[in-house]
Amino acid sequence: MASRELPQNDPRAAYLAQRAEIDAAIARVLEGGRYILGSESAAFESEFAAAMGCRHGIGVGNGTDALVLALRALGIGPGKAVATVAHTAVATVAAIEMVGAEPLLLDIDPASYTMDPAALARVLAAPPARLPPIAAIVPVHLYGQPADLAALAALAARYRVPLIEDCAQAHGARFEGRPAGSFGVMATFSFYPTKNLGALGDGGMVTTSDDALAAELRALREYGWRERRYVSERAGVNSRLDELQAAILRVKLARLEADNARRIAIADRYDAELAGLAATAPRRDPRRRHVFHQYVLRSAGRDALRSALAAAGIGTNIHYPVPVHLQPAYLGRIATAPSGLAATEAAAGEVLSLPMYPQLGDDEVDRVIAAVRAAVPRG
Ligand SMILES: *Cc1c(COP(=O)(O)O)cnc(C)c1O
Repeated sequence: MASRELPQNDPRAAYLAQRAEIDAAIARVLEGGRYILGSESAAFESEFAAAMGCRHGIGVGNGTDALVLALRALGIGPGKAVATVAHTAVATVAAIEMVGAEPLLLDIDPASYTMDPAALARVLAAPPARLPPIAAIVPVHLYGQPADLAALAALAARYRVPLIEDCAQAHGARFEGRPAGSFGVMATFSFYPTKNLGALGDGGMVTTSDDALAAELRALREYGWRERRYVSERAGVNSRLDELQAAILRVKLARLEADNARRIAIADRYDAELAGLAATAPRRDPRRRHVFHQYVLRSAGRDALRSALAAAGIGTNIHYPVPVHLQPAYLGRIATAPSGLAATEAAAGEVLSLPMYPQLGDDEVDRVIAAVRAAVPRG
């Protein structure tokens, strides 16, 4: 059986699925003569913000910059700490350091792989010694599943610390029926090509329903210009969404709901066919709409499973193999919760992301299922 290599993710397949529309959108921009922050960006900002349940969208260069600008819009910099998790893309922590603030890394709830509200409650009630005041909370809706937004928003309100949702993996996710990204004062999105809503290059967005923050973000992303171009009212940066990516993203936004539904259908098949194996499937919580940016199996025999799948021509990934606080760039110099990061460190050794993208065919899903069943004993 000579079968082709099955990738873990396939952004090219997403392009080919909408090729004619995307090519037409690109041609329209090229002929239009405006290439940065024009009508396509403006239209995409309002369409995307509306889809995410927010009043404003501010297009920026990428998801990391979106976090940087959201923190700066709140005046967060040196002398402030920001609570987030270590089980995330390094971008979350890098952004906090980019503004000069100190990350404080908390453990995850192992069932959802997202910020443990109990860990947050402990550091808010008793902030770690020698740490500046916690000025923001940045939960990450990892793998497409929202963190426990009811608990986190309640703590944020009680301690009057703003919540910024890192939605880079959670376009279209919902918590108790409400879009992820509409709970915090701001939310940040990435349009990296493999995300649930992916550009054909870099892109990002901050969403908010606060008019003043939206105005501040628009100024910050372009040198601090506000009323007058070429006159900076504050020191800003250059981080803008370009017209080509905005036009492409408008085409792809029309498909986001259908794409997420397909991801969920694939996850349902994986769940049904892999049940009973000595591997833990993603937890399904009826309060949370999980949009399966990744379908993550958990197994003590992760490395052997990964090798067996590779031998069968099936690509997998590990999100993430090393928690941020243990990576060389951060080791020994990043504040972690006094109660430790045991759940984070255990997860890093056992998680495995199976192939997951909307264009994955039913026969390909079958191939993954057969290979996993052949490699993992019954539990
Ligand atoms: C992808 C990602 C980012 C960063 O987005 P970029 O567009 O790559 O800068 C931030 N946080 C999380 C959780 C991500 O997955």
